[in-house]
Amino acid sequence: MMLADSYGRVATDLRVSLTDRCNLRCAYCMPPEGLDWLPAPEVLTGDEIVRLLRVAVSMLGVREVRFTGGEPLLRKDLTSIVARTAALEPRPEISLTTNGIGLTRLAGALRDAGLDRINVSLDTLRPEVFRKLTRRDRLDDVLAGLEAAAAAGLTPVKVNTVLMRGLNEDEAVPLLKYCLSCGYELRFIEQMPLDAQHGWKRAEMVTAGEIFAALESAFSLIPDDAHARGSAPAETFLIDGGPVRVGVIASVTRPFCGSCDRVRLTADGQVRNCLFARQESDLRTALRSGATDAQIAARWQAAVAGKLPGHGINDPSFLQPDRPMSAIGG
Ligand code: SAM
Ligand code: SF4
Repeated sequence: MMLADSYGRVATDLRVSLTDRCNLRCAYCMPPEGLDWLPAPEVLTGDEIVRLLRVAVSMLGVREVRFTGGEPLLRKDLTSIVARTAALEPRPEISLTTNGIGLTRLAGALRDAGLDRINVSLDTLRPEVFRKLTRRDRLDDVLAGLEAAAAAGLTPVKVNTVLMRGLNEDEAVPLLKYCLSCGYELRFIEQMPLDAQHGWKRAEMVTAGEIFAALESAFSLIPDDAHARGSAPAETFLIDGGPVRVGVIASVTRPFCGSCDRVRLTADGQVRNCLFARQESDLRTALRSGATDAQIAARWQAAVAGKLPGHGINDPSFLQPDRPMSAIGG
C-alpha cells in the first residue's frame, strides 16, 4: 500500500505538527497576541502519534518524518517521541524544524534519541529586527541553539529564512555570510499566504528573483546539478564554486506541486494533503473510537488520493486555508 494521488504522485515524506503553540510570534505566521491554542484534550498524545507513525511507516510507505509545529521543542515528550519513531521498522529518516529556542538543553538528547537532521529558522542577525519580526527578544537563544545543534553533530545544520519587505529584506547577504562562517546550510523560503491574520500581499512578498539578485551581488551562484531538485522544494546553488550550497524555496513564483511527495498530520490528528488544502481528514476520531490499523491506513490513503494538482496561489480564485501554518505544521 502507498499514499498515491490521482496525478501520479506518491507521498513518502510526512510532516507532523506536534503542537500549535509557540514562544515566538513571527509576523508572517501569527498575530502579536498569539492564537486560540487547541485545547489539550484535542492534541494527540505521544502514544497516538507513535501509533499513527507506525501505520504510516509500516503500511503506507512513509520514509521520512519531520516534526514541526508550532514550536516542537515546547513538547515535553519530544525526545521520547523521536526515540520511539527511531525504533519503528523500517526506520524512517527523522528531522525537526524548530525556532531553536531550547536547543542548548535538548540538542544532545535529541541526537541520542535518533534525530537525523535539523532545520532552525533564523530571519535576521539584528536584535532589534528580531524583536520586531518575532515580537520577542530571543535572538541570542536562537544563535546559541544553532551552535548547540552543530556541536551535537546534527549536521549539516540547515537554516530557514523568510525575508519580509521593510523588515529584513536587506539581510540575504549578511545571513549567507554568517551561515558560511558557521558551516550552516541556508535556505530562503518565499513568504506564503499562511499567516493567521491574512496579511500576506503578493506585492510585498520578497521574490526568489530578488533573493538571487541580492546574493549574486556578493557571490557567484551555479545551479547544483548534482543535487537536482527532484521532489525537494529547494533549488540549490553552489556558492563560489562550492562545495557549500544555498537553497531557495520559491513556493509562490516557481511552484513545485507537480513533484510534491508530502503529506501532513496536524497536532489534533487531521491529515492534510497540502499546506493549502481546504479539507482535512480526521484520524483522531478514528483512533479514539477503536479503529484498526487497517481502517486508519485506508482513511489516510483516501485523504491523499483526493489531493489537488496544485496549491492555486496564483489563481484568481485562490482562498487561503482556514487554519494557519502553525496549526497545520510548516
Ligand atoms: N516553529 C518552528 C520554526 O519556526 O521553525 C516550526 C514551525 S514553522 C511554521 C516552520 C517554518 O515555516 C519556519 O521556517 C517558518 O519560517 C516557516 N513559515 C512560517 N510562516 C510562513 C509563511 N507565511 N511563509 C513561508 N514560510 C513560513
Ligand atoms: Fe513560531 Fe515557527 Fe510560527 Fe515563528 S514561524 S511564530 S517560531 S511557529
